[in-house]
Amino acid sequence: MEIGFRTGMVVAALVAVVSGCGEQHPAATSPASGKTAGVAAPTPTQTDVNRNGVPDADPSDEDWPGKMTVVYEDATTPDAVRGRRFMEDTKLLPQLAEDITGSLKLPYDIPLKGSQCDEPNDFWSPADKEMTLCYEDVANSLDLFTKLGDEDPEASAFHEALASFYHETGHMVIDLYELPATGREEDAADQASAYLLLQRDDDGRFDPESVQAIMDSGRWFGAMSSGAGGEIDDDQLADVHSPDRARMFNMVCWAYGADPDDTGDVVAAGLLPAARADLCEDEYRKLDRAWSTLLTPYVK
Ligand SMILES: [Zn+2]
Repeated sequence: MEIGFRTGMVVAALVAVVSGCGEQHPAATSPASGKTAGVAAPTPTQTDVNRNGVPDADPSDEDWPGKMTVVYEDATTPDAVRGRRFMEDTKLLPQLAEDITGSLKLPYDIPLKGSQCDEPNDFWSPADKEMTLCYEDVANSLDLFTKLGDEDPEASAFHEALASFYHETGHMVIDLYELPATGREEDAADQASAYLLLQRDDDGRFDPESVQAIMDSGRWFGAMSSGAGGEIDDDQLADVHSPDRARMFNMVCWAYGADPDDTGDVVAAGLLPAARADLCEDEYRKLDRAWSTLLTPYVK
């Protein structure tokens, strides 16, 4: 299968985030006075996640032995077998694991598991410190994008899996690094997905496939919401997740705000009301600033 994802794309992007901060030297804190010398880099936390006595934000803290490791669990149902085959054929999991290992400081090994879950979903487990991508989730996406009439439903399903993985990565970094993220965590995790995928390369360009991943994720939420008949009840309003249709508008807004050239006329396509579209560039800029600040101490 020729579905490609440039391994290391996010790695390169995150490294660029760090090198972009090259002038902001460490908060040279004087132990006696507690005052900082020079211009301090933003340090959202003073955590010591790897427990080595050096604050995580200190650039000399290089003692992070963890890797993300790939595990395929058994698949027995037809949907799970289909999903597992797709993950193996596209090499989805090793590419994602390599990307995270190359870009983020990990205090210990984090399993990335392909699993039969008996539901189309993905999970970060704060108790077990592991991530699970369900075989049924990609099988469900393949069916959904086929039903939508996509020319290449496999590419769309691959994109949706990318966006979903980086959403779980959002939960992972909030948990691992005890990030002071505010608002509902599910919304913050959607922001993280957009932030991690929507990074400029050295030429200041966004990767079109990553932009498409966010757009396909938005379309996926849109299709899920129309499947529910457009009705929103109290259970959905009270849920930890925003309603699917709101998540669609958010994802499309952030992709459009980052890269209006590659997202097309989202208003004409019915993917975003004009009044929201006008605000998206500013929304994306603030999202990018917030997540850059939060993650900089943990980027390799
Ligand atoms: Zn979530």
